[in-house]
Amino acid sequence: MPALDATDVAPTPGRGASPRRFGSATALVCRECGATYDLSARYACEECFGPLEVAYDHPPVRRADIEAGPPSLWRYADLLPVPPDPADRPTDLAPGWTRLHRADRLAAELGMRRLWVKDDSGNPTHSFKDRVVAVALTAARTLGLSTVACASTGNLANAVAAAAARAGLRSVVLVPADLEAGKIVSTAAYGGTLVAVEGSYDDVNRLCSEVAFDRADWGFVNVTLRPFYAEGSKTVGYEVAEQLGWRLPDQVVVPVASGSLLTKVDKAWRELGSAGLVEPTPYRVFGAQATGCAPVSRAFAAGLDVVAPVRPATIAKSLAIGNPADGPYALDVARRTGGAVGDVPDEEIVEGIRLLARTEGIFAETAGGVTVAVLRRLLESGQLDPDAETVVLNTGDGLKTLDAVVDVVGPTATIRPSYESFQEVGL
Ligand SMILES: *Cc1c(COP(=O)(O)O)cnc(C)c1O
Ligand SMILES: [Zn+2]
Repeated sequence: MPALDATDVAPTPGRGASPRRFGSATALVCRECGATYDLSARYACEECFGPLEVAYDHPPVRRADIEAGPPSLWRYADLLPVPPDPADRPTDLAPGWTRLHRADRLAAELGMRRLWVKDDSGNPTHSFKDRVVAVALTAARTLGLSTVACASTGNLANAVAAAAARAGLRSVVLVPADLEAGKIVSTAAYGGTLVAVEGSYDDVNRLCSEVAFDRADWGFVNVTLRPFYAEGSKTVGYEVAEQLGWRLPDQVVVPVASGSLLTKVDKAWRELGSAGLVEPTPYRVFGAQATGCAPVSRAFAAGLDVVAPVRPATIAKSLAIGNPADGPYALDVARRTGGAVGDVPDEEIVEGIRLLARTEGIFAETAGGVTVAVLRRLLESGQLDPDAETVVLNTGDGLKTLDAVVDVVGPTATIRPSYESFQEVGL
């Protein structure tokens, strides 16, 4: 948790209360002590400083209604803290409903029976972050906030700047100055305010918490709007279940930065089970980190409940959060479901990127390389069952992290434009 004295939590600006402006969401509830709060731009409990989460009181949701919805995450609007009427939401990029790709060639190479890649590189700004931003921006608009802001390791910056451009909202995005050029340049192109901070992601995040103190009309999507932001990640879980024909897989491997996505895939599947939308079959949740930033994996291996912060040093910058806010909850989910959290060094991340590309035609960013490489490790160590149906999440596009592979892949040959020269390649 970013340290923020609860008395400093900004008051909520807003338009008058209308009971349906957050759909069937009813309150923010403290994950530690259960204290409840109005739906507003707050994220820390005033009693115990625990993180707040959105609670709902759902009317029945039917498969047929979801199936009749748009081919985007808005097909699940009834399960999110958003106004049910699209007209009450900002114009957006309609992310989600990305493909679930059956990965038979990768499965064969790894000795697995049935493997799927949920490919979130197909989102509008090429990462899963478009999902969390769609929900957070809707909350910002519903709460009447003037500006959307964030601290980002790159993908969130892209997603916030693009979605704000589409919605006609002002954006202020803060990133570590040493990010990949592909992420900085593409964020800047969307035309919002981009501030490069000479420090780590954790420094940037701390700075945002400070700035948020006296910018009551700004919504920091992953800080002050975090409870809403996090709900957007559930849509990955909903989609996997629907795309499998309304059932849950046996195992899932999820990349871990703050740990939020991992916990929300689990939340989504529990919700679908209790809503009667799927059979509540057991599943195991596995987390994937880079060894150069593996605080959750280390805590898992050591049998600890607390996650000791680390200083990140890895090519997987989108996962380089040294002090993960949802780390302890991600540990809980991995342990409760019989999963695990693993990590891989940078060389294996590069191998993971190449393995997925050469077997399945999917060019992932470093986070995807982490996930595929951890999948392989967990199979080798016997923690993952090769015979159980497994889904791995590819959360981002390789074109944003070309630096990671530029030294190890290139042309098979470079020749003069003559037939003789071509013959010399020996094809
Ligand atoms: C943000 C991000 C994640 C996971 O983020 P959490 O903070 O753990 O929810 C995974 N992959 C990519 C590419 C990301 O940008
Ligand atoms: Zn509390």
